[in-house]
Amino acid sequence: MFHALLLTQTEDRKTHAALTHLETSQLPEGEVRVDVAYSTLNYKDALAITGKSPVVRKWPMVPGIDFAGTVAESVDPRFSPGDAVILNGWGVGESHWGGLAQQARVKADWLTPMPAGLDARQCMAIGTAGYTAMLCVMALQARGVAPADGPVLVTGANGGVGTIAIALLAQLGFTVHASTGRVGEAQYLTTLGASEIVDRATLNAPGKPLQKERWAAAIDSVGSHTLANVCASLNYGGTVAACGLAQGMDFPSSVAPFILRGITLAGVDSVQAPQARRVEAWTRLASEMPKALLDGNTQSIGLHDADRAAVRLLAGQIQGRVVVNVNA
Ligand code: NDP
Repeated sequence: MFHALLLTQTEDRKTHAALTHLETSQLPEGEVRVDVAYSTLNYKDALAITGKSPVVRKWPMVPGIDFAGTVAESVDPRFSPGDAVILNGWGVGESHWGGLAQQARVKADWLTPMPAGLDARQCMAIGTAGYTAMLCVMALQARGVAPADGPVLVTGANGGVGTIAIALLAQLGFTVHASTGRVGEAQYLTTLGASEIVDRATLNAPGKPLQKERWAAAIDSVGSHTLANVCASLNYGGTVAACGLAQGMDFPSSVAPFILRGITLAGVDSVQAPQARRVEAWTRLASEMPKALLDGNTQSIGLHDADRAAVRLLAGQIQGRVVVNVNA
């Protein structure tokens, strides 16, 4: 028996979340069974748990798009009992039972060895949000963006992706501007490495197709008008790595910044990212993410708190990352 947060759908299609006892035999098919140590609460998990968006594609569902733990048993020769592993994405927590449980059974292909230099809690303090932030940094660097080019904007600055993106960019020597609706948290964002705070209200309404050039690059987890205004405000030849939709899934832009300023819109997906890119991202996170900032950026909860925390996350009341100790 093990504990899991189980989501069920009522007849009127509402999502119901309950802490439940499950049998190991109920776990879905997979080559590797993992004793989960930590999971996290990501934006997508909050949508799944509250039922605010149709994230869950199979019922009942154990949510949790990521976890860190230890292999309990494996029929795949790549993994042995005792191996430390992490998982991000692959539809786990959406169509395959996920990490908000004390056990998980998954495909061996979905697991990444835990990188040297990080423990299970630190891996989940980074979580899918932080791993995505690193994929965004890599996307900018792959297109030649360098600190000398000028400031880089991070939107959704107080969120999971945003906070870790700020810390990573600052660590790499970039000048970081942070866009947030919580300008009262400027001091915290400065601690992470931001040198200028931008009120998100100046970016989240419809704007002109071309605006004053302000940033060499950007990491955007917000989408909608914010992404459109960021594109319109990039320097000539600038790049934006777009990974999120916290404001909305729409993209009400024009071709003007692309054909008149030669900007690049680089899409970033963490869910289906190939294994080699995952390993590169996690290896870099182990050495480049300042550990001291990681502790301060993380709050811990137990499985029983996950549904309440999901509501707070979607209300924009959580700063940084939420780690879930599934054994607490
Ligand atoms: P969080 O909820 O932790 O952070 C989102 C932040 O966005 C908030 O803290 C807030 O920052 C800002 N925000 C929220 N609502 C609005 C709004 N209406 N207008 C403008 N800004 C807003 O989420 P995560 O950081 O975990 O994820 C951010 C986004 O990235 C989500 O859409 C998520 O689905 C996506 N994502 C995508 C991945 C991929 O593979 N492409 C992987 C991981 C995440 P502030 O208070 O500072 O304004």
